[in-house]
Amino acid sequence: MNNKINTKILITTGFITGLSILTLLFVFSSCKKKELKNYNVVLVVIDTLRSDHLPFYGYKKNTAPFLSKLSEQAVVFENAFSVSSWTSPATASIFTSLYPFQHQVLMGLLAIRMAKELDPNMEINKIPPEITTITEVLKKAGYSTFGVSDNLNIGEKQGFTQGFDKFVCNMYHKAPEVNKTLKAWKEEITGSGKYFLYIHYMDPHAPYHRREPWYQPKEDRQEHLISAYDSEINFVDQHLEEMYKLFGWDKNTLLVVTADHGEGLWDHGKMGHGNSLYREEIQVPLMIYLPEPAPDMSRRPKALVSTIDILPTVRDIIGLPRGKYDEGMSLVPLIEGKEEDFKDRYLFPYLWKSVKKVVEFKSTIFRKWQFIFTRPKKRELFNLIGDKLEQHNHYFKGFKIARGLEKQFEEFMKASKKYKKKSSNIKLDQDNLEKLKSLGYVDDN
Ligand SMILES: [Zn+2]
Repeated sequence: MNNKINTKILITTGFITGLSILTLLFVFSSCKKKELKNYNVVLVVIDTLRSDHLPFYGYKKNTAPFLSKLSEQAVVFENAFSVSSWTSPATASIFTSLYPFQHQVLMGLLAIRMAKELDPNMEINKIPPEITTITEVLKKAGYSTFGVSDNLNIGEKQGFTQGFDKFVCNMYHKAPEVNKTLKAWKEEITGSGKYFLYIHYMDPHAPYHRREPWYQPKEDRQEHLISAYDSEINFVDQHLEEMYKLFGWDKNTLLVVTADHGEGLWDHGKMGHGNSLYREEIQVPLMIYLPEPAPDMSRRPKALVSTIDILPTVRDIIGLPRGKYDEGMSLVPLIEGKEEDFKDRYLFPYLWKSVKKVVEFKSTIFRKWQFIFTRPKKRELFNLIGDKLEQHNHYFKGFKIARGLEKQFEEFMKASKKYKKKSSNIKLDQDNLEKLKSLGYVDDN
């Protein structure tokens, strides 16, 4: 063999060996397990809480003195969106970091809204057992796991209890009852090492009660209901404060406070939720209180974020690797003041119901735009910055933008990993049926 070739081979081999060592070092360092933190993780979901009715999101009334105070020591995300507008799909997305058309929790008790009589053989969707929920992630990481849900849509039948050591699901027994359960469990929760606690308060959900001393009487029916809704926020704020103090979540605890969805208060003619994907139904508060506060806790990231980001963020903060199928993004870069990765982010909220007829809504949120497609052919485009109340449809003027956003949704939906729809039968007793009626889930008409 000629010397020249030998030298060349040696040089090449040396180069490859050097490269391999570098690669190995890189792989090793990126695979190196981070040390797991010993923080407790507390996830509080306040049902039906739209962010713009909270003082730290600019509301004129002090509906949440406790959360406002906490917001000064936490990171508050200015533009957080749920990916659906009613409990089951939206909360399943929090639990799984997947969109509703992926986890397929689409049918639930809302579907019987128009039913005169409850069909005992009715099927509702559940989170497919093969999906790993936030509870299972934390259970596997050595957490003991507890959950208290005050919404019947978040129960065992719907797959929400996967991974919980202890879980109770009530039907709107209200915040004092939720707290009573938590007080009864306190020793067990705090005496078992690090824990994950999920609390789902229901109070701002209709029917709104007049909570004293916060309710301000109004003659006008709509104003009265809004005053009652606001007083329910005060009510739940006070009860959350009680638990915060009792459990001492100011220490060694990663506390996330959010909502499953918002609430229409006649912004687009209707009261309630699960009716559309307009901003009032999907824009939610999102606050993260960190166990080791970041240097600048007054930071309020404006980037577009979502409740599907909660699971990847929790993983990141406690030192777990990103989940293979997480659709959400870790919010840690935003907490550290780095917005770059979020600049071109898309969100794809989705709503599907089958009530007499199928109703489907698809939305793309990108930068300042929200595009909404309502089956079969209604298309709207709103400017989220210039038109906060989404009163002006720019679809025809912004046709190209709207078409582009619609295409993004369709392509994402087509390419995304989808799980096989799972269902279970649910049979409600008369008591729960009456409660569902009072909540507007079953309509006598
Ligand atoms: Zn809800």
